[in-house]
Order: sequence, then C-alpha cells, then structure tokens
Amino acid sequence: MSDTMTASHAFGKELSDVIFGASAAAQKAAAQHGAQKVTNATIGAIIDDDEKLACIPTMENVFRSLPMNDIIAYAPIAGLPGYLDTVIDLTFADQKPNGYFSAVASAGGTGAVHNAIANYSEIGDKVLTSDWYWGPYNALCHEQGRELDTYQLFDEKQNFNIADFTKKVEELLKKQSSLLIIINTPAHNPTGYSLSEDDWAQVIDVCKSAGKSGDKKISILVDIAYIDYAGEKNEARKFMKQFSDLPDNLFVMFAFSMSKGYTMYGQRTGALIGLSANKTIIDEFTAVTKYTSRATWSNINRGAMTVLTKIQQDAALLKQFEAEREALYQKIKERGAIFMKEAAECGLNALPYKAGFFLSIPAKDPAAVCDKLHDDLIFAVPLKKGVRVAVCAVPASKMYGMAEKIKHAWDAV
Ligand code: PLP
Repeated sequence: MSDTMTASHAFGKELSDVIFGASAAAQKAAAQHGAQKVTNATIGAIIDDDEKLACIPTMENVFRSLPMNDIIAYAPIAGLPGYLDTVIDLTFADQKPNGYFSAVASAGGTGAVHNAIANYSEIGDKVLTSDWYWGPYNALCHEQGRELDTYQLFDEKQNFNIADFTKKVEELLKKQSSLLIIINTPAHNPTGYSLSEDDWAQVIDVCKSAGKSGDKKISILVDIAYIDYAGEKNEARKFMKQFSDLPDNLFVMFAFSMSKGYTMYGQRTGALIGLSANKTIIDEFTAVTKYTSRATWSNINRGAMTVLTKIQQDAALLKQFEAEREALYQKIKERGAIFMKEAAECGLNALPYKAGFFLSIPAKDPAAVCDKLHDDLIFAVPLKKGVRVAVCAVPASKMYGMAEKIKHAWDAV
C-alpha cells in the first residue's frame, strides 16, 4: 500500500515558502517590538509611508463606481475588446514597433507567463531566463512539464552578460528545435536591473543569428510587470522599437499586468500580447492563447478590465491617475536612491539597481545574512544567490542606515 494518491508527475510538489517565512517573521517581530521598530523589506507590493498597502485613489473611485453588471457578468474568453485595444496602447505607448499585434486577457501577469510557456515551448524542453529570476517561473515551467534553465545575468563587471546569454542560447538550440526566453525588464525582480538599448540590440542579434542556423524557432517573452515604475513612459519603452520587422522565426510576446501599475494585485488581471511581422503568426497566437485561457481559467475579471478602459477613455481621469501613480514611483525611486547611495558609501556590493520594487545583494549564505539582520529587526528575503530587499515596502525614513546594517550582517556571517 502506498500513502500517496497523486499522479506520479504531481508527487512531491510543494511551493517553497521563503517569502512567506520571511514575511511571517517580520509580522511576529512587529507584534513583539512594535511596527515602528521593525523594517519589513519582504513585501512585494507598494507600502506607503504610513506602512499601509498603497492604493491609487482614482483606481479606487472608478472601481467602486462600477455598475454591478460590470462586476458580475462573464467577460469574453479573450477579454473585453476595449480592454485589449487599450492594453496594446499601454504596452507600447509611442514606441510601437512595425508589425501585427494581438492581446489576449490573462489571470494577471502570471497567467500571461503560463500561456506563453504552454504554447511557445515544447513539453520536456528547457525555457531560458536569467540566474536571478522571479521564483514562480520555475513552478510555471515545471507544472507544464518544462524545465527552467538560466544564463548569468551579470558579468564580473556587473554588466549584462551577453557572452553567457549567447552561450546558453546556442547550447540549448543544439538540443531543441525551439526556445522560449523570458526576460523580465525594465525594473527586473529581484535586482532592479533594466536592459539598456545596447543590451537589447545584442540580445536581438544573438537570437536572429541563432535562428538562422537550421530551422529554429525563438520566442522572447518580455515580462513588463514593473514597467510603470521604471521611469518616463516612452523612455522605459524605447527598446520596443527594436522589435520592428523581425524575421518570422523570432516571435516576441509581452506579459502585461495590472497588479502593480493599477495597485490591483488581487484582482488578477493581465494580458499576453504577441508581436510579429507576419499576420498569420499573430492570428495563430490569438487562437492558441485563447484556447489555453479557456482550458485554464476561462474568462477573467470583467470589473478590473473595465476599470482600465474607463480610466483610459477619460482624459481628466487619466491625468489624475497618472499623477497619482507617478507620486508612488517617485517614492520608490527615492527609497532606492537612499539605499544605493549608502551601499556605495559603506562598500556593500548591491547589484546595479535601475528601478523597480526590489534590489538584491549577492551573498554566499543569504539565509545566514537574513537571520543576522533579525538582530537589527530588519527582514529581507533570502534568495538562492543573495538577499532581496523590497524597496517598494520600506518607507524612506527606515531606508536610512539599512545598507550599512546589511553590510555588517554580510561581514559577520
Ligand atoms: N512577473 C514578475 C517578475 C513578478 O514579480 C510578478 C509579480 O510579482 C508578475 C510577473 C506577475 O504578477 P501578477 O500575476 O500579480 O500580475
């Protein structure tokens, strides 16, 4: 008799709970010592200076004023047409590359990643991302019978490691006839790095030439979950112009999410956008992605999609909304700048943070560094390769001195 009832492929599946564990420890310390004494740098959401979850007021007003039908009725499987058009406009702003586009609604950015893996990587193949990566990519691949493989994000000078990227792409394409590459930029989780224009030019060159050798298909999924906190709209999207007129065997997708940009994390609304110079490839994208949505969650949150469209259609509302979001961005920017300045001053080797919710410090024993930090009532997340600090969650007043304390903990372990 066996004491497992799962199918063999499901046996032993369990989510790793490092973030949950770190966050629980922070909450316990806050209850014990008082929240004002505790620095909780574990949360992946914007926490305002009053240490409450930030909510963009215009989003809240529009959301609360929705007619009940807009909340409870089913939406089309592909998403509301107005939402999909708007999502394409929001994804590219004025940086639309030449080509055909299509968007299909998804359950958050996570759902978009899921749909890309389901349809643009072979079962049993490897999907490529950088060695510093958002943990769920691994489960998203594994759940669907794929494996995640990584290239080194940085070289020894902390520049984008194009050499290792090239090596990995070539290596995998020797064994696979297609390759899905996930690149989370701008404002990468967990490092805060954004690929530069040059980095992108090189990535595209490598993919173009790797695609030429034999009959290879390459798909790039650009995960833009944090793009609304990465600087001026068109500046942050400038790289997208480089995707104009790509060869048919180089397909580009974008994982769009309302979680951060609209402070609607729990409403689970996003989209997968496909871009190709070939219309047939885009029609195929719409069909297969819609199919996977139907087979996974059916349709998604109608109310949240409507909020996005309503804000976008009203110039005054949009202006107000963008100003409110800009204020949050400025807050995060200030917090990150305090940390990075102090890190440079005390010799703490933080990775090159450009923007976004997180920054990271490489460490040999990240768990030991995080444990040591508990002496100072600082709580961060121990990743495999280092310590992640949620800049989005720590008020500026608590940022001061944190780099130095991390340096002490780092030196002590
Ligand atoms: N991609 C990255 C790198 C993320 O960090 C997140 C959220 O934490 C997402 C995608 C998707 O988020 P959601 O599914 O909430 O839209």
